[in-house]
Amino acid sequence: MKDIVLQPVGRVISEIDAIDDMIRGGTAAKIEIYPPYQEALYRIEENSHLWILAWFHQAPRDKLRISPHRMDPQLPQYGVFALRTFARPNPVALTLVTLERVEGNLVYVQGLDAISGTPVIDIKPYFENDIVFSPRTSFIRGKTLEMRQNRMYRQALAHHREDCPDLQVAVRMATIAEEHLGQLTVDAVMITVTGSRCLGDCLQGLSRARLSNPPRFTFIGADNGGESCWEKEGSVLHIRLQEGINRDRIRELPDRELFNIDTGGN
Ligand SMILES: [Zn+2]
Repeated sequence: MKDIVLQPVGRVISEIDAIDDMIRGGTAAKIEIYPPYQEALYRIEENSHLWILAWFHQAPRDKLRISPHRMDPQLPQYGVFALRTFARPNPVALTLVTLERVEGNLVYVQGLDAISGTPVIDIKPYFENDIVFSPRTSFIRGKTLEMRQNRMYRQALAHHREDCPDLQVAVRMATIAEEHLGQLTVDAVMITVTGSRCLGDCLQGLSRARLSNPPRFTFIGADNGGESCWEKEGSVLHIRLQEGINRDRIRELPDRELFNIDTGGN
């Protein structure tokens, strides 16, 4: 077969220039588009989100199965095509970023997980057709509670788009529910939320539960308090916000001061 020839169209410029310093969820960066390709940026500002395809030039290319050990060394192995690991035969990186602005040949983005100097091989807009609300995915959990909570936080923010107190409550509720019931995005998990629209929206985003087909999500609007009830295969978990919580202190309060947690079922 003929070789494929790729020319980088630009490069990443950011403050992070070592792989080990990269933040999960990416960082603010700019992409310098090389002058011969600048014309290809025409009207790109009409998009809020972009797919960035980069070339992870430092990644190993000889591995076909690995364990996602950065998440948790105890996790089983997966084929690299079943993971988003940078180790792969062709180290093409795919990252969804938020477009901030374009200045000349510089594209300013948020959420890019490529270190400074990484060659960029393509940019594509993120379209509505790319959205799958409730995909089936491997359950690759972070090894620490902090990693699991941070992942919930990033997902809640991507869905709800404001870091309100109810988002914090939802992240804590979903993290507790995941500890008890395992993966929350599967069809077997049903959830009933009583509380504000913000709480309902965040928990729907985190559980990926739809109103029907299959019916997994029920929302009961209420001005006060907040409660989520999770059911999976006969296990039931009620998580109720304690009364009189100072909403500015949600982040610092431990679970037992923040919630009443009941497990039930048979
Ligand atoms: Zn909100």
